[in-house]
Amino acid sequence: PKWELIFSSEMKDAHFEDEVRAWASFYDALILRTAEEGLVARAAEICDEFGYDTPFINAGDGKGEHPTQTLLDTLALFSGLGLDIERDWRKLSGLSIAFLNDGKNSRTIHSLARVLGSKKLFGMFLIFISYPGFEIPQSLREEFIAEDYDFLEAHELMPADAYYVTRNQSEYGEEAKCFSVTPKVADEYGVKIVMHPFPRSKNGNELPIWLPSKPETHSVSLDKDSRAMYFKQMELGVPVSMALL
Ligand code: ASP
Repeated sequence: PKWELIFSSEMKDAHFEDEVRAWASFYDALILRTAEEGLVARAAEICDEFGYDTPFINAGDGKGEHPTQTLLDTLALFSGLGLDIERDWRKLSGLSIAFLNDGKNSRTIHSLARVLGSKKLFGMFLIFISYPGFEIPQSLREEFIAEDYDFLEAHELMPADAYYVTRNQSEYGEEAKCFSVTPKVADEYGVKIVMHPFPRSKNGNELPIWLPSKPETHSVSLDKDSRAMYFKQMELGVPVSMALL
């Protein structure tokens, strides 16, 4: 893929495991973002095996997981709903969140849904809304069933307390049709807050942008609407990263 980063030793056919050991011996902490799913877990495994105590942060592994995004998304969700995470953490059960568009490839959906739906944690009602072909992976569906999550899957928009909108993850070479969320859609489905892990896409238009010089964008964009939580999510990235480190 065009965004693949090749390190010099990778060009010499180095083992990933050796590279991890090199990084673990150079740095105090490793923040790893990989194109391939499962690589961060493999890196952590090799460090455990050889006794490096370097901490790892998974900053997104392919289509797998994005746990740091989940932390800031969870904080943003509480804040957007006017709740205090320490005092009100039980209040999310009974509320619903709909994950829109690329349930198949979006790692932020995979990580956040696991946390919000877990009955041991927040117990939210999960709704996965996508066009056919972009539903959540079967393994995740089975996990939700085994762990007794309350969830449903749909191919059309429906009411939810929160909408978590994603773009089509086109870097994996699959073009998906996306639902577009506008103030009218949020009104119609009683959506209290709208989230997006960003970047939003230009072509997919899943969350129309508000451009000062283009009046035609103003009525379809939520950017000036109090329900929009996506810039709050972005802001929370800094304190969450600081806290983790
Ligand atoms: N920035 C997020 C991620 O790394 C969301 C996205 O790319 O759509 O997964």
